Amino acid sequence: MMVGWGGNNGSTLTASIIANRQKLSWNTKEGTQEPNYFGSVVQASTLKLGVDAKGNDVYIPFSDILPMVHPNDMVLGGWDISSLNLADSMVRAKVLDYDLQRQVKAEMATLKPLASVYYPDFIAANQSDRADNVIPGTDKQAHVEQIRADIRNFKADNHLDKIIVIWTANTERFSSLIDGVNDTADNLLQAVKDSHEEVSPSTVFAIASILENTPFINGSPQNTFVPGCVELAERHSVYIGGDDFKSGQTKVKSVIVDFLVNAGIKPVSIASYNHLGNNDGKNLSAPQQFRSKEISKSNVVDDMVAANHLLYKKDEHPDHLVVIKYVPAVGDSKRALDEYVSEIFMGGRNTISMYNTCEDSLLASPLILDLVILTELMTRIEYKTEDMTEFAPFNAVLSVLSYMLKAPMVPVGTQVVNALAKQRTAMENIFRACVGLPPQNDMLLEAKTQ
Ligand code: NAD
Repeated sequence: MMVGWGGNNGSTLTASIIANRQKLSWNTKEGTQEPNYFGSVVQASTLKLGVDAKGNDVYIPFSDILPMVHPNDMVLGGWDISSLNLADSMVRAKVLDYDLQRQVKAEMATLKPLASVYYPDFIAANQSDRADNVIPGTDKQAHVEQIRADIRNFKADNHLDKIIVIWTANTERFSSLIDGVNDTADNLLQAVKDSHEEVSPSTVFAIASILENTPFINGSPQNTFVPGCVELAERHSVYIGGDDFKSGQTKVKSVIVDFLVNAGIKPVSIASYNHLGNNDGKNLSAPQQFRSKEISKSNVVDDMVAANHLLYKKDEHPDHLVVIKYVPAVGDSKRALDEYVSEIFMGGRNTISMYNTCEDSLLASPLILDLVILTELMTRIEYKTEDMTEFAPFNAVLSVLSYMLKAPMVPVGTQVVNALAKQRTAMENIFRACVGLPPQNDMLLEAKTQ
């Protein structure tokens, strides 16, 4: 169930799953296009199982290492403060080719988002004209109860085994962290009862999901998971994951900086400019919502820099600038321009300049699939070490999802890993362990010892 189902990501993902399920093909000016799940690690990447008797690598689909849900088997639903049905949302989004929209329109028109929680103060004022589908009243406890009932009803009506809720709604401003309000689980539950102004819609959804024993993933940058919310998830052993889909610029950044620092080259400045013209860009044109995004984009190189004390003194960082501007004419086709300046041998300077453009929602939608599929998988994995008597689930904060998230949340007191290759290796090796395979070590001894 998606919060923000009628947005660009929600409508694009829904139409794409219908197209894949029905094996539709559509005409574009380049020719006939078949549906696919490109951009999904689970659906469109492989992993190396090992080597065969002749020493050749053997790769299998990522989705074959363990039993995973197939996107075509998912039932989609969710909430939106905009009442448009999914067909009209898809038209509004202007992401998919017209000939595909035409073919999925009838089915999409039957899908209508549930009314949602809307506290105008949390998203940009320029969003108010689409808020015509809201749960009435200002009683936050009643809102939590309504969302809980929605989850239960959706599960029963569709005969589902499990629900995962994912926030793909607008970026909210940060909630203020206030002692006695959102610092502990009990205080947060009381703050909901008191309808405290610092309890955001996304935190209302997270609380409702946790209380329904339903994992909740946050695809936007705001601090939905205030400390009290994390404690609540831990108390109920329900998985939570976040924050912010890592789709384009940040993903590249977490590769380039890793490469530079590991090559002994010292990035001294990273300047990133974005412009986009979709509703996300419109919402981010307001200062408080931009600030949430700026924060989630800013820490992505910290661990890589901290790992090399030969290049950086303690607490030394490269200059890092992030700019986002709303340019309606480019629509969903986001532009990201990055400049990396690095210090090289003997005081030389190296500058890498990069220009990246593509439909934002076509990058983010497959990430939603990965996050949901992997979260569901994790609900079926338990572990036990020698000093434990019973098998147990992992910590409630699902750091294994870091590959898909810009500002990965990790259990309190543990280190954040942003380097993309390490994040992928962690996923692969955990899943290999589940089938009794050793971690992938890339030593290639079989090729070095003959
Ligand atoms: P969008 O604006 O098209 O969609 C968001 C939807 O959420 C809208 O339909 C809006 O009506 C709805 N909404 C707002 N507040 C709501 C609430 N309280 N309850 C229910 N619905 C609500 O945006 P999008 O392009 O689909 O992106 C969604 C989110 O994902 C944004 O926060 C964005 O920052 C984040 N994100 C997107 C990408 C990407 O590449 N597309 C990458 C990282 C993060």
